[in-house]
Amino acid sequence: MTVRVRMAPSPTGFLHIGGVRTFLFNWLYARGHGGECLLRIENTDTSREAADSVGQIEESLRWLGIDWDGEMRFQLDGADRCRAEAARLVAEDKAYEDDGAIRIRMPKEGVVAWDDAIKGRIEFPADQLEDMVILRSDGRPVYNYASPVDDWVDGITHVIRGDDHVSNTPKQIVVLQALGAELPVYAHAPNVFGEDGKKLSKRHGAVSVGEFREAGYIAPALMNFLALLGWAPDGETTIISRDELIERFTLERVGSSPATFDYAKLDWMNGVYLRDLGRDAYADALLTFLLEQGSEWDEARIREAAPIVQEKIGRLGEFADFVGFLFGDVAPDPALLDETVLTEAATRLETVEPWDAATIEVELKALCERLGAKPKTVFLPIRVAVTGSRISPGLYESIELLGRDATLARLRHGASIAG
Ligand code: GLU
Repeated sequence: MTVRVRMAPSPTGFLHIGGVRTFLFNWLYARGHGGECLLRIENTDTSREAADSVGQIEESLRWLGIDWDGEMRFQLDGADRCRAEAARLVAEDKAYEDDGAIRIRMPKEGVVAWDDAIKGRIEFPADQLEDMVILRSDGRPVYNYASPVDDWVDGITHVIRGDDHVSNTPKQIVVLQALGAELPVYAHAPNVFGEDGKKLSKRHGAVSVGEFREAGYIAPALMNFLALLGWAPDGETTIISRDELIERFTLERVGSSPATFDYAKLDWMNGVYLRDLGRDAYADALLTFLLEQGSEWDEARIREAAPIVQEKIGRLGEFADFVGFLFGDVAPDPALLDETVLTEAATRLETVEPWDAATIEVELKALCERLGAKPKTVFLPIRVAVTGSRISPGLYESIELLGRDATLARLRHGASIAG
């Protein structure tokens, strides 16, 4: 049996990161089994006009590195098939007309049950299920009917979706049984919650793929992080490449308790991925990111600055704050400046040769000795005068990159405004 799964987003605004985690599980499962992964937009309750939303869904998945097989499908396109099958169900007395709508008969006794690949056996007493409207009186199929019809028509073998769909599953199973279709394997993945145990929302931080992208997370790190929301290959491994994820992902190792979205862990993981990039790949990632942000900073300058921040920042979005001093004026806080230190530093750096980080380091350390002062009291005012901030990339590298003229000008200006 060839594995065939589907990602089935509703086109309602942006793609929520919890849903993306579930799509990732589908995709990993399909790719790990040489199967197919379809993208089906569930627009029965909305409409095709949600074009913006559909574009965003495609863009978000692509950016993350999740692809799909064949053309994207739209659930509403199956509406005729849904109506034809409903007519058949009525003819077979498995469904009936009620006020112009069509209802399907639910079993009156026993249980509707399935062996969930993640949650184990789940049973719903049949007497809790009401005969369900499958076609509204205007002929539109409802979600709980259109979805299993599509699963059947599309030959879906595994329905991997969020926990919140568990209560829909017995209804969809009844539909499939009435149609005479084989049941897919159902796997309900745990919800993703914030650290307060509440459904992940804007209150917790970024929730759409676009927001994570804008903050400067990179796709491989986000994919790795999402895969670990509810799944783990073993008790320890945290850094797992895309290929290894595909190879190692199993439904058996998806837990059933809610997954917690730990933003600090994502920051850490993104930093690991960023530091692991080769020098050029890092600069490329940074440039692509900055261009997407509409940055007009000089490309060559960005490439020069990339190495001095690579070890320092966890998100590409931190770059601008961190090295803004290389691209424009600074406004140092006079209270943090020191006239003597800055005047002396300017004098020593005026003639130093060659102008490189190592030589600048020797010179500034000699300055500490000469002033009989601790490095901290010397380096802080210099750092603030040159970079405008207490926090910067390495001081010597920063000074080297800024260049002699600009450095001297900033040191002298700093000395003149020190308060
Ligand atoms: N459209 C549903 C959602 O976005 C998915 C339902 C399903 O996978 O069957 O949660």
